[in-house]
Amino acid sequence: MNIVIVGGGTAGWLTAALIAAKHQGEIKERKLTLTLIESRHTPTLGVGEGTWPSMKATLKTIGLSETAFLLYCNASFKQGSTFINWVKGNDRYHHPFSPPDRSPGQQNHSQPTEVTAQCASQTDLIRHHIAPKLLAAGDYEGTMNYGYHLDADKFVSLLKVHCTSKLGVKHQYRNITTAQKDKAGNITHVVSENGEAFSGDLFIDCSGVRALLLQGQFNIDTVNVSHVLPNNCALACRLPYKTHDAPIHSSTRATATPHGWIWDIALQHRRGIGHVFSTDFASKDKVENQLFDYVRQDPHLDESHFETREIRFTPGYREQFWHKNCVAVGMAAGFIEPLEATALALVEQSALFISAHLTTEPAIVKSIAHRFNRLMTHYWHEIIDFLKLHYTLSMRDDSDYWRSVSSCDNLPQTLKEKLLLWQALPASVYDTEMKTPLFSHNSFHYVLTGARQYQVANGNDICDPPINNHLVRALPTQQHYFQQLRLANNKKAT
Ligand SMILES: Cc1cc2nc3c(=O)[nH]c(=O)nc-3n(C[C@H](O)[C@H](O)[C@H](O)COP(=O)(O)OP(=O)(O)OC[C@H]3O[C@@H](n4cnc5c(N)ncnc54)[C@H](O)[C@@H]3O)c2cc1C
Repeated sequence: MNIVIVGGGTAGWLTAALIAAKHQGEIKERKLTLTLIESRHTPTLGVGEGTWPSMKATLKTIGLSETAFLLYCNASFKQGSTFINWVKGNDRYHHPFSPPDRSPGQQNHSQPTEVTAQCASQTDLIRHHIAPKLLAAGDYEGTMNYGYHLDADKFVSLLKVHCTSKLGVKHQYRNITTAQKDKAGNITHVVSENGEAFSGDLFIDCSGVRALLLQGQFNIDTVNVSHVLPNNCALACRLPYKTHDAPIHSSTRATATPHGWIWDIALQHRRGIGHVFSTDFASKDKVENQLFDYVRQDPHLDESHFETREIRFTPGYREQFWHKNCVAVGMAAGFIEPLEATALALVEQSALFISAHLTTEPAIVKSIAHRFNRLMTHYWHEIIDFLKLHYTLSMRDDSDYWRSVSSCDNLPQTLKEKLLLWQALPASVYDTEMKTPLFSHNSFHYVLTGARQYQVANGNDICDPPINNHLVRALPTQQHYFQQLRLANNKKAT
């Protein structure tokens, strides 16, 4: 079987790596070939720097050492997300990756606290920039669950080298312009601008938002969801730390502003920061000023490097993801917005599914495509419900943007039903009929309880709960962890 992947961004290389790692036997016996073709003319997105804990399993499966990955990608540990000013404008709650491990009764505060601290001790680590593991712990093993913050460009280079040198993936730089199909409508070849044809049995479209194959060859459009989640633009920048001892945050910070929200991702050597907004509500200049204010007020950032890049997108997902012998993964399949960093997690899920369903039998491929389309459509609906929940729990009234995005007018029916149930019951495993939901019910629980305490509180002031967690003393800060990791690595090298 010959698989051709078009596109060498994070989606293309992650998909190639997972399929190749799971089918090493067939690759070595030459029963399976995997060829990734990417264009030199179209750069990769260069964002997508927050991952879920699922990335640990992915990196382990594809055979990368965690230490090598952390050092090469200047990566840090991500233990969840922190939402700042989302409810009333002076509030903060967390969505940690580890499940709740203490009862709310263990702390007794009349004021709002950083709420998930009440039920998840991981939030103590987040608040104090503590690493989720000891330096002596093995690769991918942590005291707490974690994903990563990583340098997207470096991650792509690392995957490329690993796939081509260790996993037997073939790599070509070509600009693909068209495809040839057989009578049944299946793609037989993709063709480059100089007329070279690459044949395959399965074509994976990882060509980014334009979806060169799924849209370009089969006219499969996106379902636009901007009436529910209107953000369609981001201004992104990368800023070095001012000093070597600046703290390295261990959660993605998402700070709401009158125009949208700002992501803040801390790597070992710099922060990746960007403002997500809707062009229907704010101009680029307004948003850029807001972003600069954010950067300027942070004593650890070197604002002299402030320079933004504009990234436009249409929030939505494909009507179908798998059609004939062509399947879209990554931005080609859809993108809604960066909140909760769902995109790479979905790439991992898609690649695992494809890898478990490799066949060239057309009748079977048709059933596989149906199954994939059902599963992915369900996942996109889950994502929409979860993202919309963050907005709909907001009580911000300081701009047209917030009045519109928090309004209940355009709630998906599924979310409406859940919100009704959650008035009486906590989020639970029964909230989804799926055996393998994308989000655990704990995620819904953290956001619901996190936002709700501010909804009911009279005052807005956040009360920092006292630290009652031996782990804060036992585990190193992220800053210390990576300093020691680099020192140990330098010693090894000399
Ligand atoms: C503002 C923003 C923030 C984000 N933050 C996160 C996050 O924190 N976490 C997360 O999980 N995701 C995030 N994402 C999504 C994430 O960036 C993408 O899912 C990820 O980068 C994968 O992109 P891709 O590989 O699908 O597309 P791209 O990076 O666009 O790659 C497309 C590839 O296709 C190739 N190509 C295009 N045309 C041709 C052609 N004609 N011939 C050959 N090759 C071609 C290009 O050369 C390139 O290699 C974010 C996205 C945005 C917009």
